Amino acid sequence: MRKIFNFVDGTIVSGGNASLGDVFDPNLGQVQAQVCFADQALVDAAVASAKAAQPGWAELNPQRRARIMFNLRVLIEDNMDELAHLLSSEHGKVIADAKGDIQRGLDVIEFVCGVPHLIKGAFTEGAGPGIDVFSMRQPLGVAAGITPFNFPAMIPLWMLAPAIACGNAFILKPSERDPSLGVRLAELALEAGLPAGILNVVHGGKDVVDALLDHSDIAAVSFVGSSDIAHAVYARGAAAGKRMQCMGGAKNHGIVLPDADMEQTVADIMGAAFGSAGERCMALPVVVPVGASTATDLRERLISAIASLRVGISTDSEAHYGPVISAAHKTRVENYIQMGVDEGAELVVDGRGFSLQGHEEGYFLGPTLFDQVTPAMRSYQEEIFGPVLQIVRAETLDEAISLATNHQYGNGVSLFTRNGAAARQFASIVQVGMVGINVPIPVPVSYHSFGGWKRSGFGDLNQYGEDSIKFFTRTKTVTQRWPSGDAVSDQGFVMPTMR
Ligand code: NAD
Repeated sequence: MRKIFNFVDGTIVSGGNASLGDVFDPNLGQVQAQVCFADQALVDAAVASAKAAQPGWAELNPQRRARIMFNLRVLIEDNMDELAHLLSSEHGKVIADAKGDIQRGLDVIEFVCGVPHLIKGAFTEGAGPGIDVFSMRQPLGVAAGITPFNFPAMIPLWMLAPAIACGNAFILKPSERDPSLGVRLAELALEAGLPAGILNVVHGGKDVVDALLDHSDIAAVSFVGSSDIAHAVYARGAAAGKRMQCMGGAKNHGIVLPDADMEQTVADIMGAAFGSAGERCMALPVVVPVGASTATDLRERLISAIASLRVGISTDSEAHYGPVISAAHKTRVENYIQMGVDEGAELVVDGRGFSLQGHEEGYFLGPTLFDQVTPAMRSYQEEIFGPVLQIVRAETLDEAISLATNHQYGNGVSLFTRNGAAARQFASIVQVGMVGINVPIPVPVSYHSFGGWKRSGFGDLNQYGEDSIKFFTRTKTVTQRWPSGDAVSDQGFVMPTMR
């Protein structure tokens, strides 16, 4: 059986004495490979290799570091087909979607190719008599990243690209459910010219995460995953004195006003709700039509759009989405559907019991639509993370906005309307980190930054964009005076000021 190895100090290595994990093909519901989990000694070896390599890497001028990021970008693009197939075979998302996953990561590499400009400091001439002040951004040393299963290329690249470009060494702990991409990216980075030890990959679950969080030679940890784990990771890492950014789960609302372009809105909602089998933290699993006639119209259009959805294996180029990640996750989503029924929501389309001929053991779920969902229902309050769309009806825009604002998660929200004033008011007051206006999946471009509010994010700096440069560097500020020779300044016993 194929083995997926760790990548430490520029070489592929097994996991020491730790166990193996099964990696499934979600199209078939069968084990396709085994991933070698790292033991404590291998985690220590990865950190030691990173620590030893980092000073030399940080000394390289930023333009030379950027050049290696350029090379990596080219190599990833040259290997796009192979990477997309590998990603899709472990995750189950369709090939075109897998390419989107990689492309979003490439966008971040492109952004950090500007690192010479991004880490330029600040300078003030003559801050006092003969005194100049300058600030510089220096790397932290060794940083680590812990990533979820649902974007096996994009999210590792969100983290490792800025960390490395800023002069840090980086240790990636990818999801153990689709771990191959992380290793391939590290191999390509080595080929691109990255010195051995600057990017290491260790596999595992909680044990390996804890080993990284507790390691005294790791200065910062970036985490993306579900909220309870994000919060626990944040607390443990912060208690160990590390810089932390931990992104969590989501339940994004799409609000539809009566004046929206309904045809376009329904097309947008369908892609955002069911694309990638709903396994996106920026999916739109909740739609909020404002007013009864909007609700009736939207519901009818969604029913007919759902009828034409094609669920297929991840290599089916006609399929809109593929299987979910695992048998356990499929059961979890089915349980949420039953919960919705038990709570009194109206099950309009039931995706349970879907079976794909020749792939009966695959983790497929048909699309599900609920209407008459209310904020009191647990199936509304919690993240389902599957191809399930819930309609929550509202009477007014204010009521719709407060649904998103009062929800425990605050990752993304979208409004569909032709009314500029309503859109402006919505963007200003809604308590959510990423806002779309007639844009169903408002994942910001790589030179802005990505981050949710409330239980969708712990820590104060976002992923990628300028925030990532801040996260992976620290500021040193120098106040300098060059004595001219004759004048001796007074000994100062009071706090020095620049008056
Ligand atoms: P997860 O929380 O199960 O796992 C994330 C990572 O944490 C994995 O690497 C996993 O090995 C590790 N992990 C698992 N259990 C752990 C524990 N007890 N202690 C420490 N680490 C542990 O998440 P997932 O199922 O892989 O991914 C889906 C979740 O991620 C969803 O909730 C989704 O909304 C969220 N997500 C959020 C964003 C965002 O940017 N906000 C982006 C993508 C996914």
